[in-house]
Amino acid sequence: MISEEIQRIHEALPSGVRLVAVSKYHPSEAIREAYAAGQRVFGESHAQELQRKHQELANLGLEWHFIGHLQTNKVKYIAPYVHLIHAVDSLHLLSEINKQALKSGRIIPCLLQLHVAQEETKFGFTPDEARLFLEEGVWRTMKGVEIAGIMAMATNTDNTFRIREDFHQARRFFEEARKDFFQESNHFRELSMGMSDDWHIAVDEGSTLIRIGTQIFGQRQY
Ligand SMILES: *Cc1c(COP(=O)(O)O)cnc(C)c1O
Repeated sequence: MISEEIQRIHEALPSGVRLVAVSKYHPSEAIREAYAAGQRVFGESHAQELQRKHQELANLGLEWHFIGHLQTNKVKYIAPYVHLIHAVDSLHLLSEINKQALKSGRIIPCLLQLHVAQEETKFGFTPDEARLFLEEGVWRTMKGVEIAGIMAMATNTDNTFRIREDFHQARRFFEEARKDFFQESNHFRELSMGMSDDWHIAVDEGSTLIRIGTQIFGQRQY
C-alpha cells in the first residue's frame, strides 16, 4: 500500500532528512494516493513525463524534483517550475539550466552528481573533476542557478560495506566542498543519496534527501 509505505518511511526518517517519492513510470493516480498520505515532494526522471504530470496535478501544488540524467534540450520543458535538479554532471548542462531559468525569471537549485560507485557509467563528476569544476568558478557567474549540494548513487551491489564506503565518500566530498567553496552561502546543504535498497545506509551516512520509488509504488510500469 502506497500510503502505508509513505508513513513507514516518514516515521523512520530523522529530522532534517526528506523523502523524494520517485513516481517515474507510475500514473498520476499513484501520486494522488501518496499525496493523500501527506507526501508533497516527487521525483521524475523524464522531462516529458514530468511535464505531463505537472499539468495533470497542477492543483495539488507539488514540489517536483528532476532526479535522473537530464538532456540539455529538455531543460526548457521543466525550467518554469522544477524545484530541484539532482544530477547536474557538466558545465554545459548547468549553462543551459541557467539560461532557461533566467528566461523564466527564476533561480533553480541544482545538485552536482558525484560519481562514487565502483562501476562504469558515463554520468557524474569524479571527486577530482567536481573539485576542479568548483575551483574554476564559472558557476559563480550564473545568476539563474544555485549549487545546492551533492547527489550520489552507490554501487549496485549486495555488499553493504561497499555501499557504505560509497556514501561515505560522497559525504566527505560534500563536507569539504561546503568548507572550501560555500562558506559564505547557506544554499549548499543538500546531500541526495539513498534509494529503495540502500536508504537506511545513506541516512546513516548523512543523507538529507532520499529518493525512493519501488518501495513506495512497487515495480515500475513500463
Ligand atoms: C529511479 C531512480 C530512483 C528510485 O529508485 P528505486 O530503487 O525505485 O527506489 C532514485 N534515484 C534515481 C536517480 C533514479 O533514477
